[in-house]
Amino acid sequence: MRIAIISDVHANQEALEKVLRDIEQQGAEAIHFLGDAVGYGCNPDECVSLIAKHCDIKLLGNHDYVALGLESTESFNQAAQDSLNWTQARIKQRTVETMSDFEITASYLDYYLVHATPEEPDRWQYLFDAGQAQEQFEHFSQSVCFVGHSHFPAIFVLGNDGIVSMHFKNKLVWRQEKRYIINVGSVGQPRDKDNRACYVIADSDSREVRFRRVQYDIDKTQKKMRKARLPEFLIERLAAGV
Ligand code: ZN
Repeated sequence: MRIAIISDVHANQEALEKVLRDIEQQGAEAIHFLGDAVGYGCNPDECVSLIAKHCDIKLLGNHDYVALGLESTESFNQAAQDSLNWTQARIKQRTVETMSDFEITASYLDYYLVHATPEEPDRWQYLFDAGQAQEQFEHFSQSVCFVGHSHFPAIFVLGNDGIVSMHFKNKLVWRQEKRYIINVGSVGQPRDKDNRACYVIADSDSREVRFRRVQYDIDKTQKKMRKARLPEFLIERLAAGV
């Protein structure tokens, strides 16, 4: 079964629409969303509505937690705080109600799905290296765990020797004797110096995971964000992909 896994849309409607079109062309049978529908961008209502309509499993991220009033903006940097205040002031009640049905973790086939980490999913820890990923394998039982949160596409592999290694490649065929944590990257705000939207197609029959990169109209998104008076830092980073 071929599924698409998307994460960190961050209210970027242009990127999400292009990714949904690409997923359709890839022939995925289901779409799962790993959280952070809102924050940073200027179309939270439109993005939550698209996610609710197209995605089967829908998870919450740390930005969504703030939008739902479950957490304060204390731990966020200034630009993120400003965009979350902007979001909270404008988001529709109906959008908040839709998001309140989203989950914290989920499992599907032999996959575990979570926004940040399997250990304490609502503490929003980051996985940037193999050392940080190492202990996470004890906190889920499935073969493959898909995460988002850092906006960096990456593959962590737990080998037979118990050692975790980190890889960056566009395609992986996973082996039954190994286990994996895969960061699917970000649809709405990629940070790996590639400004195209990023997501993953996973095929449980061929055990193949492919990263897809999709170009979208960044210029249009930036113009809308400027008009909305969102922080310039957040506008410029979309083009730089950092
Ligand atoms: Zn995010």
